[in-house]
Amino acid sequence: MLADPVALDRADPLARFRAEFFLPPGQIYLDGNSLGLLSRRADVTLTRAVEQWRTLGIAGWTEARPPWLTLAETAAAQLAPLLGAAPAEICLTGQTTANLHQLLATLFEPAHPTRRVLLGDALNFPSDTYALQSHLRLRGLDPATHLRLVPSRDGRTLAFDDLATALAAPDVQLAVLPAVVFTSGQLLDVAALTREARARGVLIGWDCSHSIGAVPHALERDGADFAFWCNYKWLNAGPGAVGGLWLNRRHFGRAPGLAGWWGVRADRRFALAPEHDPAAGAAVLQVGTPHILSLAPLLGSLELIAEAGGIAALRAKSLALTEFLLAHADLELAPLGFTVVTPRAAAMRGGHLALAHPDAWRLCQALKAAGVVPDFRAPDLIRLAPSPLYTSFTDCAEALARLKHLVRTRAHEKFPATPTLVT
Ligand SMILES: *Cc1c(COP(=O)(O)O)cnc(C)c1O
Repeated sequence: MLADPVALDRADPLARFRAEFFLPPGQIYLDGNSLGLLSRRADVTLTRAVEQWRTLGIAGWTEARPPWLTLAETAAAQLAPLLGAAPAEICLTGQTTANLHQLLATLFEPAHPTRRVLLGDALNFPSDTYALQSHLRLRGLDPATHLRLVPSRDGRTLAFDDLATALAAPDVQLAVLPAVVFTSGQLLDVAALTREARARGVLIGWDCSHSIGAVPHALERDGADFAFWCNYKWLNAGPGAVGGLWLNRRHFGRAPGLAGWWGVRADRRFALAPEHDPAAGAAVLQVGTPHILSLAPLLGSLELIAEAGGIAALRAKSLALTEFLLAHADLELAPLGFTVVTPRAAAMRGGHLALAHPDAWRLCQALKAAGVVPDFRAPDLIRLAPSPLYTSFTDCAEALARLKHLVRTRAHEKFPATPTLVT
């Protein structure tokens, strides 16, 4: 028996947050893991920043409310509960990939006598792998020898034992893994893998791009070394919004690999001294002036999450949404040639559901034409990403009904078969 979506919506404690978002008219938006939608609250905090720029000019650095000078710190304090970390360990700055470069530049020691291998995985978002490769080259090491990518057995997921075995190799110095695999939506066991890494003397960093805002983290409890993420996916901070990084306090005091004037102690920054006088905490990893206009919407977005009961409430709704999609997919989509590639166990599931289908590309185009926004990942994945704050169970049911209808009527077959890979 499949659950009734209307009854689920009625019982949903987060249902009222849907009205807080600008939902694209006539669309069922299931792409919040690529670009989250704008909320009214983020619109307000962004508009306020623009207004203060208009009226205050440079005085906004100190007189805007909240002041721009410490806006990144204000946001870090609001974001801390999502990561299970202290605000001083968080820095909202740069971009996801640039932050990975900064963390590698700060933590990786290429001259280590025995450990010179960087560990990644074969499924990670390619930008992370490009960063690892180019970082090694920059430090005079050859990625062919010094980058090791843990392979996937099925091309979709990573096996815990494979990761643990790779972490145990005596030449690995630092590992970078995704908390949630961006294609299949597999959630890795961050706590256990962090433990494995720590036990072997390996530094471990997590790419939380696909997990932050969908899955709770306890980075401090787990004892990881660092993390980085984007704020424009589940956190709805807007296209190209400022990125984030987390540095465990045990690394405080290290010189930043990429130094800049904004990493100087706040009270010494405007002394503009020739010597870099490092800021306390993760703030030392800031390179330049904070991205005020993309921090601003993040503040509104985080405010809304706090009101909704925080990340635990979001995770509960997110799991219920993906559970609903899963149950339907098994019963109704499997007979139509779809395979669920997201792991079924709640503890191994991120925020989206990935379906494999040989005609995935055409189905995604046909879905968009039918008013449903999924996304496609080559070669054969349809990702459905229900957002806990603005997607209803009725949306999910309707999206599935349209998908079934498309396949049954073969309506997708009139769309071009070759992907034009733009998103
Ligand atoms: C989205 C995403 C990124 C994005 O990197 P940017 O530098 O923000 O463009 C990086 N890594 C992963 C795993 C992602 O999902």
